[in-house]
Amino acid sequence: MSAASSPVQVYVGIGSNLDDPRAQVTRAIAALRGLAMDDSFRVSPLYRSPALPSEVADQPDFINAVAGFVTRLSPAALLARLQALEAAQGRVRDGTRWGPRPLDLDILLYGEAEMDTPALRIPHPGLGERAFVLYPLYDIAPGLRLPDGRALAALVAACDAAGLEKLEGT
Ligand code: ATP
Ligand code: CA
Ligand code: CA
Repeated sequence: MSAASSPVQVYVGIGSNLDDPRAQVTRAIAALRGLAMDDSFRVSPLYRSPALPSEVADQPDFINAVAGFVTRLSPAALLARLQALEAAQGRVRDGTRWGPRPLDLDILLYGEAEMDTPALRIPHPGLGERAFVLYPLYDIAPGLRLPDGRALAALVAACDAAGLEKLEGT
């Protein structure tokens, strides 16, 4: 077990666009629940979104969600746990960024922390403009402010949600 630090509220982005994405996300949610202290675990509904434009053309749509929970894991230890879950669900890292994947888990926020190293950038650099992150995050934390003071509600209001679809019954 990693060295324990004070409990911190974290938010994790979940995405999948390969090998039955909805089942992958559901399985990841169950695994993340196991990282949460006490009854702190919250999870958004599931969303469907088109893949971001990238060098990898014609990717299947993504299924996305956001989970929030309290943990004592350090940022590095949390990232290691998330990458272990990605691997357990069949993700192979071949150096291709933004390619199709059965599971992608990103640390969106780690309390009020701000860090910028190659291995870990927090808040996640895509957080401010990605509809498939902002909307589910807003579902579970509507009053949230980012460490730089920006209100999540304002970011959501400014974000184009074209193509983003909330899946009913999730
Ligand atoms: P994006 O980060 O733009 O969503 P991606 O999720 O496709 O792209 P990956 O290939 O999954 O990118 O990750 C590349 C590297 O990003 C990882 O090896 C990890 O060390 C690093 N990384 C930096 N910041 C974070 C973060 N906040 N959460 C997860 N990984 C991060
Ligand atoms: Ca990602
Ligand atoms: Ca990632």
